[in-house]
Amino acid sequence: MRNDRNDLEKVIVSEAEIGQRVKELGERLTGEYEGRNPVVLGILKGANVFVADLVRAMDIELQIDFIMLASYGASDTPGEVRVKMDCETELAGRHVLVVDDIVDTGQTLKALMELLRMRGAASVRSCVLLDKPSRRTVELEPDYKGFEIEDAFVVGYGLDYAERFRNLREVCAIKKRVYAVE
Ligand code: 5GP
Repeated sequence: MRNDRNDLEKVIVSEAEIGQRVKELGERLTGEYEGRNPVVLGILKGANVFVADLVRAMDIELQIDFIMLASYGASDTPGEVRVKMDCETELAGRHVLVVDDIVDTGQTLKALMELLRMRGAASVRSCVLLDKPSRRTVELEPDYKGFEIEDAFVVGYGLDYAERFRNLREVCAIKKRVYAVE
């Protein structure tokens, strides 16, 4: 079955806009990380597509790794992060660039960055494709970001709704009726 575009409300960031911005971010990161052999650490599953494009826009020696985090349940303490699948790389002494698809409340990224500092990383910075600043509940400002967006539930370019739409080339808002059904 094809991706059902009737479930999508509108395009929030187009393929061309993403391409241009990823190129700019890649050039900036190339300048900042040259000679530091960074570990680009993508958060699974959502950052997978962004990482793939971003690292190809960075013309330096680097390593790629991924970490999978458990999503928060109502009973979880904010500020804690549960690692579902850990990365392979020994991060002590390394310059780590955490890459995520979107920062919403900021809890996930903030907690992960604290964990990586506790593991002895030489530096920890964050790069997110999308930022919803109006939703923030903790103090966190991504070091690098693609786009600030309004408060809508978005899919595409790695982001899903119930595992659907990760493979869209653009970022779209999903219709309210789609998630109101469940
Ligand atoms: P935070 O801890 O910042 O609240 O949560 C960030 C995570 O929530 C993201 O990595 C992503 O998995 C999920 N998330 C937040 N907003 C959206 C959204 O609009 N669409 C999708 N697909 N996931 C989102």
